[in-house]
Amino acid sequence: MKTALPSRTAPVVLAAPSGTGKTTIAHALVDSSDDFVFSVSATTRLPRPGERHGEAYEFVSREEFQRMIAKGHLAEWAEVHGNLYGTPVRSLERARELGKYAILDIDVQGARQIRERIPEAVLIFILPPSAEALRERLSVRGTEAPEQVRHRLLTAHRELDEAPRFDYVVVNEDLESAVAGVRTLVEAERHRTTRALDVSAEVGRIQREIERVLDRA
Ligand code: 5GP
Repeated sequence: MKTALPSRTAPVVLAAPSGTGKTTIAHALVDSSDDFVFSVSATTRLPRPGERHGEAYEFVSREEFQRMIAKGHLAEWAEVHGNLYGTPVRSLERARELGKYAILDIDVQGARQIRERIPEAVLIFILPPSAEALRERLSVRGTEAPEQVRHRLLTAHRELDEAPRFDYVVVNEDLESAVAGVRTLVEAERHRTTRALDVSAEVGRIQREIERVLDRA
């Protein structure tokens, strides 16, 4: 089933390897402009301290999640780190009714499904400025053991392969310019003709850096 959304309010998908800062960008974007509304996903993951139902996520049981899939209530869904995550169709419908862009903070598997289902969606891949910055951000979270950091770096390496299939990439050098970058792209999308950045070269560069970081670890 295809959801016919007018391009004026096409969903905007932000995907990136863990530690790239995409969730911060997504929330800063929504806070900075009335044009955007955060798409609240459903998840089977348990809430972290401070996370309230209906804000970061709708926290549901596996059974409830399976019911949502069966009823066609999810526009996309994927298993990430052992938990299920999905975008409720009604999140997208609500944004469309409001004439706003839904901001989807989802993983690359979900982005692929949105691309198929909603061809006019704007897919933006957030790149870390370097492997070292990524490693630092993953480490300073403090919650990740060195082996976890290594595992996430390997996952990042794999996920970076997806970047060239996105419409755009934004390098998260600093929050303000990354948010400004996404805003500009959404605006420019209405006038898009070609892609400007050599995504493959940039992805290859960061993958080579990750390989060097992994060799050193
Ligand atoms: P976290 O549990 O750290 O909040 O999120 C883990 C990963 O799941 C992140 O990459 C996040 O973007 C992704 N994610 C969050 N919501 C969704 C969703 O609705 N669909 C998909 N496919 N991924 C999601």
